[in-house]
Amino acid sequence: MSALVATGGRPSPHPALPGHEHCITSNEAFHLEALPKSIMIGGGGYIAVEFANIFHGLGVKTTLVYRGTEILNRFDMDLRTSLHEAMSKKGIEIVCCAVAEEVVRRDDGRLDVRLNNGETCKVDQFMLAMGRSPNTEGLGLDAVGIETSATGAILVDRYSRKAVGAHIMGPDAGEMAQLLGIPLKAGVTKDDFDRAMAVHPTAAEELVTMYKPNYRVRKGERID
Ligand SMILES: Cc1cc2nc3c(=O)[nH]c(=O)nc-3n(C[C@H](O)[C@H](O)[C@H](O)COP(=O)(O)OP(=O)(O)OC[C@H]3O[C@@H](n4cnc5c(N)ncnc54)[C@H](O)[C@@H]3O)c2cc1C
Repeated sequence: MSALVATGGRPSPHPALPGHEHCITSNEAFHLEALPKSIMIGGGGYIAVEFANIFHGLGVKTTLVYRGTEILNRFDMDLRTSLHEAMSKKGIEIVCCAVAEEVVRRDDGRLDVRLNNGETCKVDQFMLAMGRSPNTEGLGLDAVGIETSATGAILVDRYSRKAVGAHIMGPDAGEMAQLLGIPLKAGVTKDDFDRAMAVHPTAAEELVTMYKPNYRVRKGERID
């Protein structure tokens, strides 16, 4: 008999941050009683970036604070810098190389978020988007010999870890990504992409006409 463990995950509450109890996560973001006038979002992954754009789109003064040098770590570098520029241009403040060190609830109900760059920002909400924890505790996985990582993630074999992908930015990127999932799942190779006919003029034709890399990036730096 086999058992499928599909208990998902939950946002990390970042207990090491003094004042983390004053913060919300993407869960609470859907249950706010009122739209905040201003929000700071901690994190630079796709949930942080997505919510920064959602709140900004709703008219909230939005600041994204991320510890790394550029948002969306491990994504394509051109996409990261282009999206950063586009978000800044529309009015989202992005502060890289900074982390929150303390969150203090003020008498007026707002929050003072003290950053490690010396700045203190006054905001209505601070949303933590700093990773998720697997819901695996209490399932008795160790009793049946299922190994987990230090964070509780079930250790998987090389097939589950295999990741081939494409990062696409621009109009209809989601439509392209969904269709691209089918050939990738079917196991096509780069040669198959190169053999496919381009439909011109489309943005998606780039996927089948990119015969060789324009340049290479190693550890975030362009190397040729
Ligand atoms: C903010 C946010 C935005 C996202 N946006 C997108 C998006 O735009 N597009 C996209 O494709 N994906 C998106 N995702 C990712 C997507 O939600 C997840 O990949 C997907 O929900 C994972 O599905 P799952 O079934 O593994 O886990 P879940 O959907 O988390 O389901 C796990 C279920 O197990 C239950 N459970 C937990 N513990 C137990 C237990 N002990 N016993 C029984 N049941 C238990 C939980 O209550 C839950 O119902 C987003 C995720 C987040 C957090």
